Amino acid sequence: MLQRTFSIIKPDAVKNGDAGAILAEIVKAGFKIVSIKRISISRPQAEGFYHVHAARPFFGELCEFMSSGPIFPMVLEKENAIADLRKLMGATDPAAAEKGTIRQRFATSIGENAIHGSDGEETAAFEIGYFFAGVELM
Ligand code: GDP
Repeated sequence: MLQRTFSIIKPDAVKNGDAGAILAEIVKAGFKIVSIKRISISRPQAEGFYHVHAARPFFGELCEFMSSGPIFPMVLEKENAIADLRKLMGATDPAAAEKGTIRQRFATSIGENAIHGSDGEETAAFEIGYFFAGVELM
């Protein structure tokens, strides 16, 4: 069954000029880009997005980073989209990411790791709704 997931090309990858190459990988892997935009978010907007991580020690650093420059939030669709995107992304820490994954190729550290991908159906629904209106998802 077709499934949708949510992804962000993070500020480090946009700054490094890697957004195009990452998008190409995503399309090559069979994802349809349902919606995409280039925006900058404020610190409070980043905190709202990552609210589940509020108690983690790196929360402040993460929200500072995510509001430090333009990002590309997007909605992607394919069979098994959530798990397949996580596989394409690679491990959170690029040093541990499998060869050929997006984070192995484009991330610089565990914090500045190039790409976000939803980790489950409920998370995907919240994250899509956080960044996109219904009319942007048709
Ligand atoms: P993900 O699902 O692979 O993105 O990883 P998590 O859900 O565990 O963490 C969310 C995001 O927080 C990661 O993608 C990183 O950007 C950031 N993060 C995770 N661990 C660390 C850490 O130890 N230090 C810092 N600075 N950021 C982290």
